[in-house]
Amino acid sequence: MLFYAENLTFLHQYDSYQMIQEYQIRLQPRQASQEQSIKEFIASEKGMDVRTIQHVRILKRSIDARQRTIFVNLKVRVYINEQSTDDEYIHTEYPDVSQAPRAIVVGAGPGGLFAALRLIERGVRPIVLERGKNVHDRKRDLALITKTQTVDPESNYCFGEGGAGAYSDGKLYTRSKKRGSVEKILNVFCQHGASTAILADAHPHIGTDKLPQVIENMRNTIIRCGGEVHFQTKMTSFMMEGERVVGVQAVQAVDGDWRATEQREFRGPVILATGHSARDVYRYLSASKIEIEAKGIAVGVRLEHPSMLIDQIQYHNREGRGLYLPAAEYSFVTQVEGRGVYSFCMCPGGFVIPAATDKHQIVVNGMSPSNRGTQWSNSGMVVELHPEDIDEAGGLTSEGGMEKEDEALRMMLFQEQLERTCWQQGNMRQTAPAQRMADFVNNRLSYDLPKSSYAPGLISSPLHFWLPPFVGKRLQEGFKKFGKMSHGFLTNEAVLIATETRTSSPVRILRDATTLQHVRIAGLFPCGEGAGYAGGIVSAGVDGERCADMCADYLK
Ligand SMILES: Cc1cc2nc3c(=O)[nH]c(=O)nc-3n(C[C@H](O)[C@H](O)[C@H](O)COP(=O)(O)OP(=O)(O)OC[C@H]3O[C@@H](n4cnc5c(N)ncnc54)[C@H](O)[C@@H]3O)c2cc1C
Repeated sequence: MLFYAENLTFLHQYDSYQMIQEYQIRLQPRQASQEQSIKEFIASEKGMDVRTIQHVRILKRSIDARQRTIFVNLKVRVYINEQSTDDEYIHTEYPDVSQAPRAIVVGAGPGGLFAALRLIERGVRPIVLERGKNVHDRKRDLALITKTQTVDPESNYCFGEGGAGAYSDGKLYTRSKKRGSVEKILNVFCQHGASTAILADAHPHIGTDKLPQVIENMRNTIIRCGGEVHFQTKMTSFMMEGERVVGVQAVQAVDGDWRATEQREFRGPVILATGHSARDVYRYLSASKIEIEAKGIAVGVRLEHPSMLIDQIQYHNREGRGLYLPAAEYSFVTQVEGRGVYSFCMCPGGFVIPAATDKHQIVVNGMSPSNRGTQWSNSGMVVELHPEDIDEAGGLTSEGGMEKEDEALRMMLFQEQLERTCWQQGNMRQTAPAQRMADFVNNRLSYDLPKSSYAPGLISSPLHFWLPPFVGKRLQEGFKKFGKMSHGFLTNEAVLIATETRTSSPVRILRDATTLQHVRIAGLFPCGEGAGYAGGIVSAGVDGERCADMCADYLK
């Protein structure tokens, strides 16, 4: 017999009944780390025999580190005298679409992959084009960045299967309010091999060691259902009939080598999910007079601390996190002279990585393995920039060199200029200019630098001197404030690594809010981060699904 009880305190009298009950509990980290100790806690709190608890399923998990004593808050489902038969995640059916009408998805980042899977659900055959390599071959090119100190413009931390999110922390939290859509994305990840812990954790993440297999499984679903995935295939232009996109022209590397290319054409409406780093795509849109506009971005540095120090600060404990707590996170935000200064994409127990997409740039970002176990914790520390700030920030408009038709590209040009300056400061290699944190705040060159996770190496550089003052001065003020908010955070044990410029898209491709098609051109669905409608793995996935729905409706 199965029934749900509001209150289980009387249950010890009814040991033979089967029940499922949900509780909100608060445990010490050690107790929360094992199912048996959770069972014992519930049994003792509710006055029941622990042997009647067959299974405990964690529905929500968060850490409360506000006070000296740290608690783990859990929402649990308890199975009393019965086994759990619930599915661990919601399963999505993907039908065979090999004979269905087709749509072109350009880009195999989270936006493109979730669009392709959703097209299949809606009975459309996705043809996915990706300029980079498959997620495993791509890994070799990432290792070569450190070895050769140079970047392959077609295969790097931003380009290749899985997009910019493939070699990342795989953080899956989002500010998106569309809970249903967010949960769908998390469930699809679980169906493709991600741990179901992501459904429970307040701050879920997959980890850079686990993401590639999940991405490969998603690709296999697309192919098994009759879709196509073409790697090393770069869209170069749209095929137009009047004001309608009817397909794309692309170049494909011959035998995996870009020195010889083949022209290809792919017909169908187009979901354009090319990410924030496809500057050739933005230039093509601008040159083709396809409506785009400049979009605000945030620019700054990666800040790296020893993870022990962050654990000590956040967990109020000299011993750090101990055995049962994860590497600590932090989040800072303040205003300096009318612009936000904030931490971005924090990677506890992670690495700082070289995320440029071309040879003459330095761009840094962060990622973490699933155990978040390295000795460093990093985050982007960035200053908000609006399109109208560019003059003041010493960008291109003030130099008078910008053509009228480039107006929409001005944030991108600003990024490019800063990334190039950074590369010059880094001796024209991928060694990144860096400065100790307190030295930066006090306008002092660092005579030496701490050990860092950034594999291509660091070079001491006066960032306070050459970062645009609009950014540098605000970062200095922001760091002073963060140091006051969190004792020990502003320290010379931490190092600033330049420069973090790819926090979001510098361009928005204008689309209709209802049909999600471009405002003028039919059959074109600007999608994900690169189009200016997402900022992270989950929101790009959500936007991919929305674009796929609209594209499927369009095909009908
Ligand atoms: C190092 C790093 C760490 C990150 N960590 C996190 C994190 O932990 N959590 C989080 O939420 N977000 C993270 N992000 C951001 C996140 O990865 C992006 O927001 C997300 O990937 C955007 O998805 P997208 O599909 O819109 O674009 P992208 O992921 O950028 O994918 C675009 C794809 O299009 C391809 N492409 C570009 N041009 C063409 C063309 N002409 N033809 C064919 N293909 C093309 C590219 O190769 C790329 O694969 C991180 C980003 C980086 C770089």
